[in-house]
Amino acid sequence: CKLSLATLQQAAAKAAIPAYDPKSLSAGIVHFGVGNFHRAHQAVYLDDLFNAGAAHDWAIIGAGVLPSDAAMREKLAAQDFLTTVVEQDNNRTAARVTAPMIDILPVGDAKVIIAKLADPTIRIVSMTITEGGYFIDASGKFNPAHPAIVADGQDPDAPKTVFGLIVAGLKVRRAAGLQPFTVMSCDNIPHNGGVTKAAVVGTARLSDPTFADWIAANVAFPNGMVDRITPATGTREIDLLKEAFDIEDNWPVYCEEFKQWVLEDNFPAGRPALEKVGVTFVPDVTPYEHMKIRILNGGHAAIAYPAALMDIHFVHEAMEEPLIRAFLAKLENDEIIPVIPPVPNTVLADYFKLIERRFSNPKIADTIPRLAQDGSNRQPKFILPSTADRLRRGEDIVGLALVSALWCRYFAGKSDSGKDIVFNDASADRLHEAALKAKSDPAAFLVFDDIFGDVAKSDLFRKRFAHALKTLWEKGTRATLQLYLDNKL
Ligand code: NAD
Repeated sequence: CKLSLATLQQAAAKAAIPAYDPKSLSAGIVHFGVGNFHRAHQAVYLDDLFNAGAAHDWAIIGAGVLPSDAAMREKLAAQDFLTTVVEQDNNRTAARVTAPMIDILPVGDAKVIIAKLADPTIRIVSMTITEGGYFIDASGKFNPAHPAIVADGQDPDAPKTVFGLIVAGLKVRRAAGLQPFTVMSCDNIPHNGGVTKAAVVGTARLSDPTFADWIAANVAFPNGMVDRITPATGTREIDLLKEAFDIEDNWPVYCEEFKQWVLEDNFPAGRPALEKVGVTFVPDVTPYEHMKIRILNGGHAAIAYPAALMDIHFVHEAMEEPLIRAFLAKLENDEIIPVIPPVPNTVLADYFKLIERRFSNPKIADTIPRLAQDGSNRQPKFILPSTADRLRRGEDIVGLALVSALWCRYFAGKSDSGKDIVFNDASADRLHEAALKAKSDPAAFLVFDDIFGDVAKSDLFRKRFAHALKTLWEKGTRATLQLYLDNKL
């Protein structure tokens, strides 16, 4: 059946459907970035809570600022904003229709978006706008000189960025004497709350410094750690849903069964009782985000490039390749895990075992191209902080320098067998050019201060990187990984 509120009962033949009446929900959250991850994570936790009969005044209204968001709005509006989520582990595949989103605001219509942000029933504004969406440089600092932010500073009543819209919404609320909403980032960024605060306050400062100070003192930006592997959707996923579950969904989401959300309990305007559905509330999320970003996201960022150079398409296939599996384990155990501070109630070695199992899940069909994209934003957040920590402690970085060298070798544009590599990275042009030069002069790849920061100033890193890159060019990826595993790189 074609998915809609009217066909929910038909969908129930093969999938779970909401135990609540979607029409009885009212909005409490505006969410920017209605991508796949949001619909597999935050929206699913809310769906669980609504199914339990609670918090029906916390439904989501979607919002976005990019043309891709407008396309998504059209797809979801055609099915009453329902999303089918297919949860898969090695032994189980289950589909559920979720209904926690009740509308998506017209993309690009600042007036309508600001009016909704100023609606007193909205108590949380959340976002999943990707690592690249926060206008930050390699040191993690907000960049107020970015043209899009400068434009919002000059025209604060007609903003085009998420941060300009949030500032405008907060301003209308303050003028009306309303409590500010809480701003909750759900992106994979260390201290995502702090990073979001810097972006919102920094944007406000360009047009109204006094109001910027007021935001800094009065608006809450809780940090959070989010986790659930959620691949991109393609025609394969759409067709599979139709075949296996008889549901025609314009943009279903496939994800693993595992999910985790650790949040700081800092919601002055109130929040749904997410602890009832498995969200962990803690006073300080730092140890959890360190663990997740460095072990899981760092792991993804480490295996993506050797796999791409070896023409491997799926993540589980990379994990089936003994060289890559062993490379990941050695890198994590020797270099990444030893510099992660202790995490309450968690054994890091067990956490890594779980990650190995999750990466090996063949059902979710996560792809190497997805992991390899956007490295210019991901390497500085997922890999280089581990490198920097070790260098500060005077410890060696053979494996982490190899990760950087693999990334550089990848950007030369051809796999070991000579196949063309297709880049998906805002900095692809400059990285490609530098990677070609680096074949004879490795230092040519380390000139990007916004990516490598202080790491590139370390003589030890430069030496290890140059040697690893030279070995990759001379001997190929397989032989280089083997040398690393034999402690001979
Ligand atoms: P997606 O491509 O499905 O969605 C990305 C969303 O971000 C879209 O709505 C897009 O319009 C929006 N966006 C991108 N750049 C933006 C910008 N500059 N300004 C405003 N909006 C912007 O991707 P996804 O799988 O939903 O992942 C989104 C983010 O979620 C990731 O970058 C990560 O931070 C987080 N996350 C994803 C996963 C996962 O497995 N997919 C897991 C944990 C966390």
